[in-house]
Amino acid sequence: MTAHAVTRHEIFQTSLISALAQGVYEDEMTLAELLGHGSFGIGTFNGLDGEMIILGGVCYRLRGDGSVSVPELTERTPYAVVTNFVPSLSRSLTGPMTREEFSRAIDAFVPSSNYMYALRVTGRFAWASARTVTKQDRPYRPMIEATDGEEIARHEDFSGTIAGFRTPLYESGISVAGCHAHIVDDDRTWGGHLVDFVLEEGEAELCLGTDFHMRLPLTEEFRTADLSEDMTEEIRRVEHH
Ligand SMILES: [Zn+2]
Repeated sequence: MTAHAVTRHEIFQTSLISALAQGVYEDEMTLAELLGHGSFGIGTFNGLDGEMIILGGVCYRLRGDGSVSVPELTERTPYAVVTNFVPSLSRSLTGPMTREEFSRAIDAFVPSSNYMYALRVTGRFAWASARTVTKQDRPYRPMIEATDGEEIARHEDFSGTIAGFRTPLYESGISVAGCHAHIVDDDRTWGGHLVDFVLEEGEAELCLGTDFHMRLPLTEEFRTADLSEDMTEEIRRVEHH
């Protein structure tokens, strides 16, 4: 990869995963404003009311009851990562391929682990499992408690899309280090925070991110949150368990 071959590409994020982990579940960022920063991405909604996946400029809300809906653009998000996805690398994958095999295949074709990547996988899945956050009431508990006992739902034999970000370790506390991905089926009947899967066949596309735009909330809740602790282990348990 030479400097000339790379076009600068921005990834936009609102708030911090460490603030979300502490229970900062509300912000003023509307979906309309968020979509102005990217037509592809993942996140959640105010009050942790479902998982978010954005594909082709359409924002979907994935709830634990299995429903997939398109919320109003006036709805708000406390944490989301988006970009205008332009595939800089793509590869056809033939399975069956487990999540571990898939991760190794992706690792083998990223030109450098020192950049951020948006990842999109479209394909046919033997199965996938996903979790979804459920709407919280005030006073908000830390995410590790709010997500404790969350059920993992499994969906079999379907076509769908994974949207996610592969983030370097140096972004710990800001974003989810490693791979953070959400999934939705093509029929828009099922989805969530991706836990595990077996891919039958599909196409993986990567969009290399060179620039990072972080927007911090101006709310009282964010201003007074205690972000002095290293939340790395707690975030790992919430996001990767
Ligand atoms: Zn997630």
